Amino acid sequence: MYDVKGNLHDVQSSLPDGVELVAISKYHPNEYIMSAYEEGQRAFGESHEQELRQKAASLPNDIKWHFIGHLQTNKVKYIAPYIDTIESVDSLKLLREINKQAEKNNRIIDVLLELHIAEESTKYGLTLDACRELISQGEWRTMKHVRIVGLMMMASFTDDMQQVAGEFQKASCFFDEMKAQYFASDNNFRIRSWGMSNDYPVAIRHGSNMVRIGTKIFGPRVY
Ligand SMILES: *Cc1c(COP(=O)(O)O)cnc(C)c1O
Repeated sequence: MYDVKGNLHDVQSSLPDGVELVAISKYHPNEYIMSAYEEGQRAFGESHEQELRQKAASLPNDIKWHFIGHLQTNKVKYIAPYIDTIESVDSLKLLREINKQAEKNNRIIDVLLELHIAEESTKYGLTLDACRELISQGEWRTMKHVRIVGLMMMASFTDDMQQVAGEFQKASCFFDEMKAQYFASDNNFRIRSWGMSNDYPVAIRHGSNMVRIGTKIFGPRVY
C-alpha cells in the first residue's frame, strides 16, 4: 500500500504555521483516507457529489469535508446536511441555493468564492470583475446561512512557475482588495485557498493559507 502516513508527515512538516492542509482524496479509497485520519488529519476534499456521499456515509463524522469541484445547483441539497466548506462557489445563483439548503438543515455553511485567473478556458470560476460584482452587489449580506470565508483558485497547468507565481500574486492582491473594501471588520473572511501538489510552495510564498494537496499524499489517482 502507498505510504500515506509518511507522505502526509512530509507535507505537514513542509507547511509553515498558519497554513491549513486539505487532503484531496477524490478517486482514492477509504483506507487511504483512514490512514491520514489516524494521523490526525480531519479536512478532506472531494470533487464529485456521489463519491463524496458514499465516503461521508461510511467514514467518521468528525471529518470536515470540503467540496472542491464544479457544483450544480441541483446537487446542493445532497451535500447541505453535512458539508463543512464549499470551496467552488462561482455564481450568485449557487450561493443562493446553498443558503436555502443550509437553512433547511438549520446550518451555516462556509463557502469560498472561486476565482478564474488561470489562462485555461476550461477552468471554472469567477473572473475578478465578476467576483467584485458579486460581492459589491451585497445580497450575500442578507444570507444568514452562508458565510463567505475567503477565496479559492487554481493556477494554470504549466511548468512555467513564474506564470504560476504571477497568478497566485494576482489572487492575493485581489483578496487584499476585497478584504479592505468589504470585509475589513469580518474576521471570517480570511482564507486564501491556493496551491496543489506541484505548486503549493509557490502558492504559500504568494499569500496562500490553505493548500489542497492530493497526489503528494495519496499518490496518482486511478480514474
Ligand atoms: C484535484 C484537485 C486538487 C489536488 O490536486 P493534486 O495535484 O493531486 O494535489 C486541488 N484542488 C482542486 C480544485 C482539485 O480539483
